[in-house]
Amino acid sequence: MKVTILTHTPEPEKTVAAAARLCYSNISASEIMENLSEEKASSFIKKLMDMGHMSPTEHVSFTFAVDGVSRTLLAQLTRHRIASYSVQSLRYNNPFKSEIADPREEEENESRHLAYLEGLAFAWNSCGQKSRFFTESMEKHNIKGLSLEKISKNLLSPYFRGIFDGAGILEEGPDLSIAFPRNFDAVLNKSSFNITPEAEKILIKNEDAVNFCLFIYENLDFASQNFCREKLTALCQKSRDFYKAFLKAAESYIDGRYYSTLPESIAKNPEAVLTYINGLESCKKNYLELVKMGVEQEDARYILPMGTQTRLVMTMNVRSLYNFFHLRCCRRAQSEIRHLANLMLAEVKKIAPGLFEKAGAPCEATGFCPEGKFSCGRYPAQRPEARGQR
Ligand SMILES: Cc1cc2nc3c(=O)[nH]c(=O)nc-3n(C[C@H](O)[C@H](O)[C@H](O)COP(=O)(O)OP(=O)(O)OC[C@H]3O[C@@H](n4cnc5c(N)ncnc54)[C@H](O)[C@@H]3O)c2cc1C
Repeated sequence: MKVTILTHTPEPEKTVAAAARLCYSNISASEIMENLSEEKASSFIKKLMDMGHMSPTEHVSFTFAVDGVSRTLLAQLTRHRIASYSVQSLRYNNPFKSEIADPREEEENESRHLAYLEGLAFAWNSCGQKSRFFTESMEKHNIKGLSLEKISKNLLSPYFRGIFDGAGILEEGPDLSIAFPRNFDAVLNKSSFNITPEAEKILIKNEDAVNFCLFIYENLDFASQNFCREKLTALCQKSRDFYKAFLKAAESYIDGRYYSTLPESIAKNPEAVLTYINGLESCKKNYLELVKMGVEQEDARYILPMGTQTRLVMTMNVRSLYNFFHLRCCRRAQSEIRHLANLMLAEVKKIAPGLFEKAGAPCEATGFCPEGKFSCGRYPAQRPEARGQR
């Protein structure tokens, strides 16, 4: 998400102060403005805000460019009626246009997929196991389980991921440690990670284990599912560093491949992230199929998820912004729109700190929470009779 102020009323604090002083003066607002110093304007604004006289703030507005927000956010945002909006349309913009024109990425993913299968088959051959998954795919592509020397250098990470999925075991215990059968030392010795022999097995431990995992999941094509889901989620739970890298990769994959956002609570659970990606993949596939069938984009878009991104331009006056920040900076607001509200507040404060001194969640200004039983508990509850309406 990116928020930029495109433009705003010039001299916002002086404009509000001049409008407010006019009410008590017998000279023109233009004269008041000419003779108003920044200091006088600031002290007048402070008085005005303390008294809660908000109508003069309607003379100043801010125009924001907002990029990379979901259509879920758009639905919530446009409930704020005292504002003007222009929104990027999915009717005229196909977010997947370039992909239709250039299938190179798909070809690259295919060779990574084959390298993964070779690694997996190699591991199964070395363990004496039979293939349980991917058997059809292995037969179709005549996968034999090639040795490391026959794999091109740029495909080593999916190849080793195949080996890990085929024969690696996550050891019990607080630290990350990966075990392989002893006869894997020849192939693993050729990786750049330290290997410790121990009884019947060999181990990659601690930092080396984290680096090994970062390497084998590098540039992961989440949609191809060429990874063992249980192992990947177990790794995320075991290593915080690995999970951070996994999330960063998933976020950029979701943004790049689906033009979508990753909501906060989904990001907290690796299983949920993978399920979310499956859902996005299926929507995208069906969307592209409809477009290929000749269905108009304006109708094909019905199948796209609410997480699909958009861009917009929004103008709000300061009074309406106060109301917006009041409702949406509160922890009760959904995470994405709260994030947007906080970014917007930080931007306007840079330009007019006095005007926005008291803006934000109501509890920040009053020290009380008006949300009753929905309170997040950060501040004590406001007395019922003092609660305003939302
Ligand atoms: C935590 C949270 C949960 C929410 N849940 C829901 C939900 O479940 N369902 C749902 O439908 N919405 C929900 N909303 C949206 C909410 O009800 C408002 O529609 C939204 O926040 C816009 O607020 P607003 O009307 O104050 O803003 P604006 O439309 O910008 O209005 C600003 C102010 O102008 C005045 N005003 C505007 N229009 C009128 C009018 N026609 N008559 C009189 N006064 C007017 C009011 O004083 C209003 O506060 C939720 C909002 C929040 C923050």
